[in-house]
Amino acid sequence: MNQLIDTHAHLDVKQFKPDFDSVIKRARTAGVTAIINIGPSINSSKAAAQMNSDQIKMFSTIGLHPEYVPLANPLKSIPLKMKALERIYQTYPQKVVGVGECGLDYFKHKEHITDEEKKAQKALFQAQIILAKKLHLPLIIHCRHSVISGLQDAWEDIFDFNFSGVNGVFHSFTGSKEAAQKALALGFYLSFSCIITYPKNNLLREILKTTPLERILTETDCPFLPPQHLRGQRNEPANVLEVIRVISEVKGLSQEEVAETVYHNAQKLFSIV
Ligand SMILES: [Zn+2]
Repeated sequence: MNQLIDTHAHLDVKQFKPDFDSVIKRARTAGVTAIINIGPSINSSKAAAQMNSDQIKMFSTIGLHPEYVPLANPLKSIPLKMKALERIYQTYPQKVVGVGECGLDYFKHKEHITDEEKKAQKALFQAQIILAKKLHLPLIIHCRHSVISGLQDAWEDIFDFNFSGVNGVFHSFTGSKEAAQKALALGFYLSFSCIITYPKNNLLREILKTTPLERILTETDCPFLPPQHLRGQRNEPANVLEVIRVISEVKGLSQEEVAETVYHNAQKLFSIV
């Protein structure tokens, strides 16, 4: 296989500093020809836009992860942060292919997320939907519900937003069957990561099975979410091959067919060649 894409990586983080060249080499050997480095913060968005490789095509995104929501006076600081993100896009228009990762994260709270924080996360997400529309870029959505309540609370809230006039992807999808249906009905893509290799994730593999191949993207979210045989270790783009392997198994298609279609899907969503 010679055309794989990792649509969600964080190669700018310190975990990749010591052996960046070997990481890229292993990715290329595995067949990876393109990587999208995701910006969860303003600094990371800038660093991601500046990443280059002579072996693999590098793209990036601009965004603010809900974990970095400004809680002190969000209504004043969010517009300033949007301006900073837009400036990165204007500096690197040929590199930046999306807005995000952005969305809602009620998972990080072990006990209870306050209404105030929910409100701020929603305002931050709304601002990035507007930015994506303005720049005609797709959205990379992060959505995680709280574990304690057992409710699909973040998933309920996320579909209250108005996504008309913008396309995007739910990255490392972990929602319910209903959430998958809603996302697909909006015309969005579902991106699957190495967590589909985890034995307990039968529901996710069921959702994968019924998701049309034309609406699937592949990612690693590295350095996070390593495949089952590397649990506890650093993840890296070469492991996107594991995602292709499981998709082909679950769907009963050849790895070549899966790889070719999902590459084409990414080209289409992110307008990359
Ligand atoms: Zn990520």
